[in-house]
Amino acid sequence: MARVAVVTGGTRGIGEAISVALKNAGYTVAANYAGNDEKAKEFTARTGIAAYKFDVSDFDAVKEGIAKITAELGPVDVLVNNAGITRDGVLQRMTPQQWNEVIATNLTSCFNLCRNVIDGMRERGFGRIVNIGSVNGQAGQYGQVNYAAAKSGIHGFTKALAQEGAAKGITVNAIAPGYIDTDMVRAVPPNVLEKIVARIPVGRLGKAEEIARGVLFLVSDDGGFITGSTLSINGGQHMY
Ligand code: NDP
Repeated sequence: MARVAVVTGGTRGIGEAISVALKNAGYTVAANYAGNDEKAKEFTARTGIAAYKFDVSDFDAVKEGIAKITAELGPVDVLVNNAGITRDGVLQRMTPQQWNEVIATNLTSCFNLCRNVIDGMRERGFGRIVNIGSVNGQAGQYGQVNYAAAKSGIHGFTKALAQEGAAKGITVNAIAPGYIDTDMVRAVPPNVLEKIVARIPVGRLGKAEEIARGVLFLVSDDGGFITGSTLSINGGQHMY
């Protein structure tokens, strides 16, 4: 039986590349998304991958979503916590809403998803969890105290859960992407983006497929000795 993989935010950007790479590697994939139905429909038509709409920041919605995926595809063996948003602004102008939305969508989501798949993984003695962090969680970034805090939190979450899962065949790792060419990065003003690219030693933005390749490596059946680690894929921008 093919392993079942859930990719949050799996219909666009980095998540889309991860969903497609997992499908091509033989996994049965469930791609989650938040609200962009048009893009999700187009994604499913093009890739044949089922899309599931639920808000990763809402525990009950996640519980329902995972129950639906399990009923339709089978128990979840692989979880990629990829969904994320930015609500940038310097601290002196950041609203509580900007703070709370980013923490809930980027960090609380990891709890919500993991909490709803961990029992099954422990019972079956196998699980692969990959959390998508960010170079900005490692290095900080002007105008992103909310995002940097959430992404930095993911790295601690990963190491703690890795310790809890190790004896049960569950690995938990993080990937910290640098700047990748997706809608999120295309929203950065061109003059700012130019300065960012100038600081990347390889001299370009990363591709979503380059992050997907890292996920495939970490979730493989023979990756059982890699846990609690963070794989930086950032073109040399930040050497941690
Ligand atoms: P995109 O903005 O291109 O795509 C985001 C995806 O997440 C969409 O599928 C979106 O669904 C989904 N999503 C957003 N909020 C929720 C929610 N509340 N519930 C469920 N799904 C949600 O993002 P990227 O591909 O650029 O980024 C993916 C991840 O990689 C994020 O965690 C991001 O922080 C991280 N990252 C990205 C970098 C980059 O340079 N792009 C760099 C470092 C890290 P919908 O289509 O419905 O809106």
